[in-house]
Amino acid sequence: MSELRAVRNLRICSKDCLCLFVCPTGATDTETGQIDFEKCIGCGACSKACPSGAISMVPYKYPKQQEKDNEVTERLKKIISSKVEQEQIAKYVYENGSEEEKLLAKIIMKSNRLITEDLYREAGYMLPQSNNTKKFLEDLLEKDKTNKEDIKKLLELLNFN
Ligand code: SF4
Ligand code: SF4
Repeated sequence: MSELRAVRNLRICSKDCLCLFVCPTGATDTETGQIDFEKCIGCGACSKACPSGAISMVPYKYPKQQEKDNEVTERLKKIISSKVEQEQIAKYVYENGSEEEKLLAKIIMKSNRLITEDLYREAGYMLPQSNNTKKFLEDLLEKDKTNKEDIKKLLELLNFN
C-alpha cells in the first residue's frame, strides 16, 4: 500500500463525482464528504481525475518534525509578541475610536491575527505532529474548563512524534 492518502477540499469540490467512479475501494463515497482514510490505498486516481484540483495526496504518517534553530524560534517568538501587542492596541482603537478609526483598526486586527498564526506555524507550534502542540494541548487541558472532552479527543487522535 502507498504511503500516501487522499484528502478532499470540500470548499473547492464541485460535486461532479468523478472521484466516485475511479476510486477502486469506495473510499471517496462517504456521508461526510471526507475521503475515508482507512479505505484509501493511496493510488492517486481520484486526484488525477478531479477537474477542480480538490483532492490532494498527503502522507499517511507525517514525518518527524525537523529541529529549528533556537535563535530562529526565539526571534519568531519576539515578532509574535509584538504582533499580539499591535492587535491589542488595534482592539482598543476599535472599541473606542471613531467610525473611520474602527474600520482601520478592524483591518489591522485581522491582518495581525493572520500574520501571528503564520508565525506560530513557522515556529513549529502549529504542526499537528509536533511536541509543541502536544505540550500546548496538555497545558490547555489543565487550564480550560469548558472544552476538556474535545482537548482529550485531540490528544488521542493526533499522532505526535
Ligand atoms: S472529482 Fe473532485 S470535484 Fe468531483 S466530486 Fe470528486 S473531489 Fe469533488
Ligand atoms: S487515492 Fe485511490 S483509493 Fe484513495 S480515495 Fe483516491 S482513488 Fe480511492
